[in-house]
Amino acid sequence: MTTALAQLPSSAKRLEGKVAVITGGASGIGESTAKLFVRYGARVVIADIQDDKGRALCDLLGTADACYVHCDVTDESDMRNAVDTAVARFGKLDIMFSNAGTLREFGKGLADSDKAEFERVMAVNVVGAFLATKHAARVMAPARRGSIVITGSTASVLGGVVPLSYVCSKHAVVGLMKSAAAELGAHGVRVNCVSPHGVMTPLMMGVMGMDEAATEAFVERSANLKGVKATAEDVAEAVAYLGGDESRYVSGANLMVDGGYSVTKG
Ligand code: NAD
Repeated sequence: MTTALAQLPSSAKRLEGKVAVITGGASGIGESTAKLFVRYGARVVIADIQDDKGRALCDLLGTADACYVHCDVTDESDMRNAVDTAVARFGKLDIMFSNAGTLREFGKGLADSDKAEFERVMAVNVVGAFLATKHAARVMAPARRGSIVITGSTASVLGGVVPLSYVCSKHAVVGLMKSAAAELGAHGVRVNCVSPHGVMTPLMMGVMGMDEAATEAFVERSANLKGVKATAEDVAEAVAYLGGDESRYVSGANLMVDGGYSVTKG
């Protein structure tokens, strides 16, 4: 018997025909995901505030397959425009990768935490994911298909390893994901989180206050799974799975891409 899954495209072009918006797509995990998605046959809208980096990435990927929009994820009109750009340019939206994020005040305890910094982290990480989910659903629900993937973190299930504001924000996106998965299931739209740990990106290097080699050594020391260095591509592969049809019955999940780190601490 031929199943629907057996009819999926081969892994080389497993996202053939898909259209994706990737927030925070100019750097790190978002950048790797944009590259992998195009390699797998998707067309991507890169939405970020780093305009030069975003445009350079689009040039690299080719303007037939990628375009850049300036999008501050905390601004609803920017987010609306990013989604509308995908529809106008490529005809539809299949995958929203809500990935833009920030981490501030590394090493600070509760007493030293600043209210404005807390609010900024919540704005980018939570309000940004809310707006991305809301505007993706606006076009996905009427089409009765789509996959929304939100970047969590091991901080979505653990406290204490990173600043309180970041932990609050990443726990919150799991609540957002669960609520949206419950509501949007009736419309054929799936919602999941992908939760990395310890990937060397500008975000990671910026907060640690150490040089690249020292940061890398720290990450390796604290990793659970030895002998494998986590990369942005490892996260991108998980996003390709959640975004694509191989995961067509997966919704409401928080997929940990952490080499087992969270089970050692939970
Ligand atoms: P990164 O700094 O390389 O990428 C983050 C991107 O988000 C940047 O391009 C930045 O310009 C963009 N961004 C920030 N604020 C924005 C805003 N207001 N509007 C639009 N774009 C904005 O870092 P990364 O590590 O690739 O981070 C990507 C995601 O992964 C974040 O959500 C982060 O919390 C999460 N994460 C990273 C790690 C890790 O180890 N690197 C671990 C767990 C979770």
